[in-house]
Amino acid sequence: MNLFELTIHEAHELLKRKEISSAELTRSVLDRIRDVDGRVGAYITVAGETAMAGAEAADRAIGDGRIGRLTGIPLAVKDLICTRGLRTTCASRILENFIPPYDAGVIERLHAEGAVIVGKANMDEFAMGSSTENSAMGITRNPWDPTRIPGGSSGGSAAAVAADMCLGALGSDTGGSIRQPASHCGVVGLKPTYGRVSRYGLVAFASSLDQIGPLAKDVTDCALLLSAVSGHDKRDSTSVPRAVPDYAAALRPDIEGLRIGMPREYYTARGLSPEVGEAIRAAVRRLEEMGARCVEISLPHTPHAVAVYYLIAPSEASSNLARYDGVKYGFRGPGQDDLLEMYRSTRSRGFGPEVQRRIILGTYALSAGYYDAYYGKASQVRTLIMADFRKAFEACDVILSPVAPTPAFPIGENIDDPLTMYLSDVFTLSANLAGIPGMSVPCGFSDEGLPIGLQIMGNHFDEETLLRVAYAFEQATEFHLRKPALP
Ligand code: GLN
Repeated sequence: MNLFELTIHEAHELLKRKEISSAELTRSVLDRIRDVDGRVGAYITVAGETAMAGAEAADRAIGDGRIGRLTGIPLAVKDLICTRGLRTTCASRILENFIPPYDAGVIERLHAEGAVIVGKANMDEFAMGSSTENSAMGITRNPWDPTRIPGGSSGGSAAAVAADMCLGALGSDTGGSIRQPASHCGVVGLKPTYGRVSRYGLVAFASSLDQIGPLAKDVTDCALLLSAVSGHDKRDSTSVPRAVPDYAAALRPDIEGLRIGMPREYYTARGLSPEVGEAIRAAVRRLEEMGARCVEISLPHTPHAVAVYYLIAPSEASSNLARYDGVKYGFRGPGQDDLLEMYRSTRSRGFGPEVQRRIILGTYALSAGYYDAYYGKASQVRTLIMADFRKAFEACDVILSPVAPTPAFPIGENIDDPLTMYLSDVFTLSANLAGIPGMSVPCGFSDEGLPIGLQIMGNHFDEETLLRVAYAFEQATEFHLRKPALP
């Protein structure tokens, strides 16, 4: 077996027993990137030298008997999480040469655990998209089929995990950007409860929806990474001071008596492919055989989620992205004799078409005279969506649904049709609007051999139950063991 194929928990055992070194492991991952990333395009920046220095430091720590959960483990980080001294582009021309002077809160936590960061992963520009085609740094291909998208916006992170170009990764999820690429690439991904993980140093897209979370090869690794990055940070006023469980230690494959909510509106959604629907139903039957009980629930405001999200997220984005004006940092366009001309040239050259579309949409929705009709109304309906979940969780412990309506679609298929692209987010947006946790676990393959993910949503701060269901399912199935056939 190649070292790059290891899971985090397997590598941790070998490192602890000193059967391998982090330097060997990290070298193996860097060689893997060199060998296959030309065909995948998961990374924007590979930090080979600093990674090797980090690995050697980890080996010294292990030699001194100091080993944390992630000591010496090579990880990838989505390129919108600030890394001190390491370029952070958000896959945008406007930040093409931005080198952050500080680390994000989650990066500090990874360093404190001794993790090794091998590089920064590709994504849709500023995390706006569902296919990673909106990157200014080139597309990422799905390791299972290079003619297809890996999902997005954390497509680079998901593809890097699926193709063994890291042992695990961090992504961010504003409307599905961890769960949907995890589903399309056949890996495990978890969007934590809003406030569970610090957003300090996460470049903001939509501040009331954004959350950082893990992408991993299996549920145990996902739980390990989640424990490592969770916790209060006073530099993020929305982070919640609440104890962090040892999520991995709490895993047990016991779901006897668990109540599974099946949202009526999700299974009758237009555009749900029969293959995906069948894979989800088979997964639910499997969980029932293991002792779970199904209850039908209703989330009646689901049909409005796409419209609500695509008003609230662009509104917040239009405000957050106002800081890229060519003055303080980042790219500056020509026309420097006239301030307005400089703003215009900076922002029209620095931002790609999807980001510009969102800024225009959001500015409109927030403008005087339209605010009440659009942003205000969307916020009211958001409250109704939250209430739907509150009511549902009186009758069930978790909610199961598809992640995406279809398996990964071909590159180029939806790129000129933003509405179709937005509609494909229908199953994932509501969790962000309500602030609840959601995850994707591999639950099947299409006839063409493309991975399909099962979405598990839970109540606020109940990540433990999500992980328990996912773990039980994983123990009973073998979908997570299949690997894409990369030469
Ligand atoms: N696909 C959604 C969007 O384009 C969600 C993106 C995300 O979660 N960052 O906004």
